[in-house]
Amino acid sequence: FNKTDCVLCGQCTVVCPVGALVEKDDTDRVLDAIFDPDKTVIVQTAPSVRVALGDAFGLPDGSIVTKKMVSALRMIGFDKVFDTNYGADLTITEEAGELIDRLKNNKTMPMTTSCCPAWVNFMEKHYPDKIAHLSTTKSPMAIFSAIAKTQYAKQENIASKNVFSVAIMPCIAKKYEAKRQELTQNGLFDTDAVITTRGLIKLIKYIGIDFNNLPESEFDNPMGESTGAGAIFGATGGVMEAALRTAYEWMTDKPMPTLEYTPVRGFEGIKEAQVEIGGHNLKIAVVHTLKNAALIMDKLRDGKCDYDFIEVMACPGGCVGGGGQPVTTTFAATKERIKALYTIDRSSKLRKSHENPYLKKLYAEFLEAPGSETAHKLLHTHYHAREKEFDFSK
Ligand code: SF4
Repeated sequence: FNKTDCVLCGQCTVVCPVGALVEKDDTDRVLDAIFDPDKTVIVQTAPSVRVALGDAFGLPDGSIVTKKMVSALRMIGFDKVFDTNYGADLTITEEAGELIDRLKNNKTMPMTTSCCPAWVNFMEKHYPDKIAHLSTTKSPMAIFSAIAKTQYAKQENIASKNVFSVAIMPCIAKKYEAKRQELTQNGLFDTDAVITTRGLIKLIKYIGIDFNNLPESEFDNPMGESTGAGAIFGATGGVMEAALRTAYEWMTDKPMPTLEYTPVRGFEGIKEAQVEIGGHNLKIAVVHTLKNAALIMDKLRDGKCDYDFIEVMACPGGCVGGGGQPVTTTFAATKERIKALYTIDRSSKLRKSHENPYLKKLYAEFLEAPGSETAHKLLHTHYHAREKEFDFSK
C-alpha cells in the first residue's frame, strides 16, 4: 500500500491490514429521521451514483438508472428527492466567478478546485503553505445543503433544524466533509448524513425493493433541476470543462466554440491545455489521484508551476471510481460510467451551469449575484492547516 495512493479521507492514522476499520454507516440515523414526524427528510444524489448503482442489480457497466434511483429513494421514504447536480451547477457558477475575479484582480493563482474533500484534506496536511490556492467555493454537496437549510427551508416554511439533509455519495471522504465545522450554520451541520452508493445498494436490498422493475420518476424541484455541466462533475476533467463553459462565456460574451472540451477528457494522470479566453491565455491542468497531485504541488512549491487553473480529484477517473462505489468497480466499469456521464450531458436540454433556470431564480430572489455578500456567506468556505499523519519524505 502506497500512502500517496490513499483516496479516502486521510483521517485514519493506521492502515488496517485485516479490514477491521469499516466505513461508518449513517443508515440508522437516516431511517430514524424518516420516521420522525417533525423532520422533513430531503436527499441529494451525486452525479456518479446514477451510473454505478445498476452494477449491483445485474445491469451492464455504466447503465444510467437515474429515474429508477429516484423511485427507489421515494419508496424508502424521503420527503423530497433532489439532485446534487443542481449543487454542482451552483458550485460552477460561483467557481467561474471566483476564477475571473482572481485573474482580473491579480489574486492568488493558480486556483485549484476544492470539491474533493480528500484533496482538500491532503492540501491542509501536506501543503498548508499553499491553502490560498484552493477555491473557496463549497463542493456541490455542501453548497446544496447550505441552500437547503436556508433558502429552501424558508421558502417551505420549515425550521432549519427540522430539515434533515441526506447525501448519497460515491465517496467515503464526504462523510468526513459533512462533519467539518466550517460547514455549519447556527450550530447545525448543513449535511446531516452521508450514505455511500454501497450503503444505498444495501438499503434497497434490505427493504426488498425490486429495483429493475421500478417505474421511472423525476426529481423534485426546485433543487432537482440541473444542466449537463452538473452531470460531468463525476468524471476527471468534468469540473474543469463545466467551469470553462461558464467562465469563457462570461469573459467573452460568447459561448465556447466547442462545448465538449476534449483536451481535459480521458485517463491520463495529468492533462494540460491552454485556452484563449477574454485576452488571457489560460493554462490549465487536470489531475487525478493524489500521487499526481503531489507532483504538481511540489512544482508549485518550487516556483515551477505556471498553470492558472488546476482540477484535482483524488480517485482514479474522478468520483465515478470513488471509494464509496460498489466494491466490484473495475477500470472498465469506471470508463463506462464516464461515457454514461457524457451521454447525460449530450442529451441535456441545457449544458451550461449558469443557464439553469432555478439557479437564475435563486440568484434573482435570494443570492443577488455570483460572488455577492450573501453568496460568500453561504456558498464559500475556508481551510486551515491540519496535523499530518504521514510524512512522505521519509
Ligand atoms: Fe470523493 Fe470524488 Fe474525491 Fe473520490 S474524487 S474522494 S469520490 S470527492
